[in-house]
Amino acid sequence: MENLKIGIVGAGIQGISNALFLQKKGFDVTIFDKEEPGSPVASYGNAGHFSPYASLSLNRTDILADVPAMLLSSTGPLALKWNYVPKMIPWFIKFILNTSKKKMMHTAKNMHQILDLALPAYDELFDEINLEGLVENNGILYIWNNKDLKSRELEIEVRNILGVKQQLVNKHEIHDLEPNIKPFYHAGVYYPYARHARNPKKILLKFFELFLKKGGKFSKSEVKNINFDNEEKPILEMESQKITFDKLVIACGAFSKKLTDKLNEKIPLDTERGYHVHFKNCDHLLKRPVIFSNRGFGISPMEQGLRVVGTVEFGGLQNPLSKNRIKNLINNAKYMLGDLPEHEDEWLGFRPTLPDFLPVMGPSKNYKNVFYCFGHHHLGWTLGPISGKIVSGMIAKENTNLNLDPYSSLRFS
Ligand SMILES: Cc1cc2nc3c(=O)[nH]c(=O)nc-3n(C[C@H](O)[C@H](O)[C@H](O)COP(=O)(O)OP(=O)(O)OC[C@H]3O[C@@H](n4cnc5c(N)ncnc54)[C@H](O)[C@@H]3O)c2cc1C
Repeated sequence: MENLKIGIVGAGIQGISNALFLQKKGFDVTIFDKEEPGSPVASYGNAGHFSPYASLSLNRTDILADVPAMLLSSTGPLALKWNYVPKMIPWFIKFILNTSKKKMMHTAKNMHQILDLALPAYDELFDEINLEGLVENNGILYIWNNKDLKSRELEIEVRNILGVKQQLVNKHEIHDLEPNIKPFYHAGVYYPYARHARNPKKILLKFFELFLKKGGKFSKSEVKNINFDNEEKPILEMESQKITFDKLVIACGAFSKKLTDKLNEKIPLDTERGYHVHFKNCDHLLKRPVIFSNRGFGISPMEQGLRVVGTVEFGGLQNPLSKNRIKNLINNAKYMLGDLPEHEDEWLGFRPTLPDFLPVMGPSKNYKNVFYCFGHHHLGWTLGPISGKIVSGMIAKENTNLNLDPYSSLRFS
């Protein structure tokens, strides 16, 4: 088992975490990515939250009633690229079917199962690198006004049912935590045990260096196709070479569908596009990430300055960046903090999302030597190491005490 050769497609947080946990088990691992690690994909530009409390996803009972108002509002979090709507209709239908109370709780329970293990899994990897202040332990704060209180009550109730620790805070407590925020809020929730990354890219690159130091190999190449030899071993096909592995992990985030389609599996993966901008030299204004729930955006203090992050835009992988979503982030940031300097670094990234808001982790339906690890939507940064630990355990045929069936791609067949 130890000498098995494993190929991983994707050098985002999922691919690299899989690689590090596979190496811990003694496997010989090669990562393939069409870009250099740390390129501006989702694992680079996210809000940097390590958010083990975030079990309630977007497939929730209140969402459908709120969508029209969200779409019409220029300050709201939701947007569409109309040219992509026809392509996304099957995904939307499946999503709507997943917003019943039962499905919402199914997702929340199974997200909670892995989120609860997310920070200890990170610590296993952090123990092996020099973090140099790249992770801060000041918690994460959500604030809201008295509009949409039903949604806030639902979030609190679901987290209570699941036993998620949450500290409700009033106006004064919010002010004490974050005195620079304009007093537009009425209440909030604080997660003191949550952490945030001051630079997700640097953390990713430190993990990547560790991978190379442990003998891991990297090839900058796009995997175009996957074939199989007569022992069912996967053969990765690139532009100018083909390489056979004993096992393969597909961890291409929102781009994974291109490869799973080639494996004749119809997995309804699509993307929720998200954006960020930076306000340089302003990170002293906040002590921790703050999210304004009513408008669905957040601001994280990072090495690059304040990173303002938000938007769920349905528009696929090909459409260009939307300038009005950038404007939305800038206006929201100024609403929260008042005057800010000129913004920098307009970034668009792709959250990989299944319509039931659970990731896909486990063997492929048709090929026993291919494993999947993608679809972690808004939580892929938090869930990198625990997902790597789970999938590497599956490959090593280890027993876990977890119920892993909910993450199987078989749920779509
Ligand atoms: C705006 C925004 C904010 C977010 N904030 C947070 C947050 O605060 N906390 C959190 O937990 N999560 C957050 N997320 C979600 C998180 O960033 C993603 O879920 C996560 O980064 C996905 O990681 P990944 O490794 O699966 O995919 P990616 O990071 O997209 O990496 C996939 C890699 O696969 C490569 N690839 C694709 N196809 C091929 C191919 N055919 N051949 C070779 N290589 C290929 C790509 O080049 C890429 O490097 C956020 C996401 C966005 C967009």
